[in-house]
Amino acid sequence: MSEAFNAFEMVQKQFDAIADKLDLNEAARDFLRNPLREYHFLIPVKMDDGSTKVFKGFRIQHNDALGPAKGGVRFHPLETVDLVRALAMWMTWKTSVVDLPLGGGYGGVICDPHHLSMREQEMICRGWVRQLGDNIGPLRDIPAPDIMTYSQHMLWILDEYETMHGRKYPGMITGKPVGMGGSLGRTESTGYGLMFTVREALREMGIRPDTTTASFQGFGNVAQHAIKLYNQLGGKVVSVSCWDQKTHSANAFTKPDGINLDELLKISDRFGSIDIEKAMDLGYEILPGDKWIEMECDILIPAALENQITMENVDKIHPRVKIIAEGANGPTSPEADEVIKKRNIFMLPDFLCNAGGVTCSYFEQVQSNMNYYWSKDEVLSKLDVKLTTAYHKVSELARKKKLYMRDAAYMIAIDKVVRASKERGWI
Ligand code: GLU
Repeated sequence: MSEAFNAFEMVQKQFDAIADKLDLNEAARDFLRNPLREYHFLIPVKMDDGSTKVFKGFRIQHNDALGPAKGGVRFHPLETVDLVRALAMWMTWKTSVVDLPLGGGYGGVICDPHHLSMREQEMICRGWVRQLGDNIGPLRDIPAPDIMTYSQHMLWILDEYETMHGRKYPGMITGKPVGMGGSLGRTESTGYGLMFTVREALREMGIRPDTTTASFQGFGNVAQHAIKLYNQLGGKVVSVSCWDQKTHSANAFTKPDGINLDELLKISDRFGSIDIEKAMDLGYEILPGDKWIEMECDILIPAALENQITMENVDKIHPRVKIIAEGANGPTSPEADEVIKKRNIFMLPDFLCNAGGVTCSYFEQVQSNMNYYWSKDEVLSKLDVKLTTAYHKVSELARKKKLYMRDAAYMIAIDKVVRASKERGWI
């Protein structure tokens, strides 16, 4: 990530451009270009070696006009308050564009789980929720997993919250383990949701998925499940890239006939890092750096971190690429976005394309609140309906008004939140 990159400035810039297009008044702009509430706090943790370490934690609620705030909790050493602000704002647009009765929030802790034991991570989770007290909860703000947080972390947070409040609140958090209030299909949901939108885009373009190829950046939960569904649709993945913890570098793994998901899953760790030597034994070619973006393919899928397609590499995108599907939040810089727009590459913007996770989180919350759970097929078919409907709403507006897909998605999402804030008499 370049030092100059600030995700919050980027998301504000994107908001300002749409605010002009929607001709929003000053109050609406002031109200929506900044978060409604922010919590910053310290979490002291007794480490396994007997020392005490102090971690910095956040929860930021950008907007809750449409319903309780909703969004992930990220554990990452490069977490910053501005990144959390940006992610909280994106969550507001994400829940709005897929028509969920939820607002947007985000949180996190500056830490690196690669160097923390499970007990230490548990203490961070419990410390995080203790600091938030009543400021989160099923009717207020509902956290979920994000980068380097998983169902186990969600359960620790829930357990501490329930202990604090002396009652059971299964709808207080989502992404819980199945059997402990989690929803079937939640693990697959972000990757599957991404592929539902790609499938619809291909259908509108008159292209059969089984004639296409794709290159992925990232091999975490989102990419793994998107690849699974893409393969089922007949698509071939020409390369996946991931971060190598040992060499501190990114590498793309390629095979002429396409990568094999099952064999790569067997040789990757829980953070989605593929073992280089074992991959070489299996006949993979390893290409260092950001080669994933240069691959000759039809679909590019950045599914790792923010600010990955920039002015430094956007010109390397192969002329064959027809679709970019943003699995990550904020993977494209605004300048690179302009280049993509001019090149007429079809953009599936992050807050639409990766909204499958929060949509399934919403289904999980509904199930948890009822304490009655649906089958996996029921969850995934409801997910398909939600994502496909949202995709077509955005694509129809884009076609009608000759807009870039990102702008069309923003217009729908922002307009809805502005209207809700007005109807409540806030602005
Ligand atoms: N962290 C995921 C996202 O960025 C899921 C959020 C949620 O389920 O609330 O969309």
